[in-house]
Amino acid sequence: MSSLQSLRGMVDLLPEVTGLWQHVEATARLHFQRAAVQEIRTPLLEVTELFARGIGEATDVVGKEMYTFLDRGERSCTLRPEGTASVVRAAIQHGLLSQGPQRLWYGGPMFRYERPQAGRQRQFHQIGLELLGFADPRSDVEAIAIAWDLLADLGVGGLALEINTLGSPDDRLRYRGELVAWLEAHREQLDPDSQARIHANPLRVLDSKVPATQALLAGAPTLADALSGESHERFARVRLGLEALGIPFELNPRLVRGLDYYSHTAFEITSSQLGAQATVCGGGRYDGLVQQLGGSPTPAIGWALGLERLVLLLSQAEQQPVAPPALDLYVASRGEAGEAAALPLARRCRAAGLAVELDASGAAFGKQLRRADRSGARFAAVIGDMEAGEGVALLKDLRGDAAEQRLGVDGLIAVVGARRAGEGPAA
Ligand code: ATP
Ligand code: MG
Repeated sequence: MSSLQSLRGMVDLLPEVTGLWQHVEATARLHFQRAAVQEIRTPLLEVTELFARGIGEATDVVGKEMYTFLDRGERSCTLRPEGTASVVRAAIQHGLLSQGPQRLWYGGPMFRYERPQAGRQRQFHQIGLELLGFADPRSDVEAIAIAWDLLADLGVGGLALEINTLGSPDDRLRYRGELVAWLEAHREQLDPDSQARIHANPLRVLDSKVPATQALLAGAPTLADALSGESHERFARVRLGLEALGIPFELNPRLVRGLDYYSHTAFEITSSQLGAQATVCGGGRYDGLVQQLGGSPTPAIGWALGLERLVLLLSQAEQQPVAPPALDLYVASRGEAGEAAALPLARRCRAAGLAVELDASGAAFGKQLRRADRSGARFAAVIGDMEAGEGVALLKDLRGDAAEQRLGVDGLIAVVGARRAGEGPAA
């Protein structure tokens, strides 16, 4: 029978990499905790309409990337392609917003039917921040700073922050009219994707990756020219806030989020070390989304960070930040009584907080001890029938040159516990 494979674009994370993932996740958790941001967990599966309304029919994500199917009750369901819509739905559904502003983060797998390549998968992982109920430009700066500091703390190199403003909904409407007229006048020179977007999602044309279109767009009207004085002022305060924190940024007038309920600040953090899939983190203000999903008008800003790209960056870095997990004790045993005593010993040691590997191979002691050496454990406990009879184990120091000791379980826990990895030589 042929063996089964994972689906295309769905990736297994093997033990050799999960240590790095856990390090990234733990660092993110720490940063959120320090910034008084609480975790929210929402289902992976939602009604399709949530994303149609919460991301927008005209986007690539909704238009062609979603995993959508009918469940057994004939209801259209979709595997979440991103986290924001679900978080906002949950906040509305559970009345969180009536309790005051919410500082929330989420993490986990997202699903998009895209062409898989390095840094682009069909199941991928994000962590994201959503600040709901915050209107002040300082919240834009804080949101960006949380992402920036997290990436810097992880040691990600070659980072660049690009920011733009999309203005108020009124600015956008005015600009949209001007842009559509200009795009119509240049329709023949646009690539087919951009032509299709002229009316459906004209701002997204600005984001086109087609070089000829990019060159042509240099002559297009810019959103900056359509901004009201108030919007200019708001954006200036965001920039001043970033400057005050010493966070370097570049203005990128092409950076857009194509939906009506996005407004004002939009930003991306890229790394020069990522090649084509350069964006690690993307975010912005979405003051219209809560209302779009049936809540009362609530200003909000958030971002999402792609973990695959982040881990890719960290594993390219010369210095691996993650040490392999330290094993305290390797238990070797032989003979009927010795083997019978080994698991209870391991279990007592584990209950005392030690990391213990048990060798249940029944191989000769010599072989078990070679495996103990390779395991990286600090100590080995050896139990033969004689030791089992006396209620002791022979404790060997695998890393230092301390003499062997015959110890009962309490003594053994005390010695090994006192000499946990890195805490000095064995007595
Ligand atoms: P891109 O232009 O690269 O497709 P996007 O605008 O679709 O990105 P967002 O929806 O803003 O991406 O998601 C935020 C982040 O999630 C991205 O910056 C990226 O790091 C990550 N991401 C998005 N799609 C994928 C994917 N298919 N595989 C891996 N990571 C992804
Ligand atoms: Mg995409």
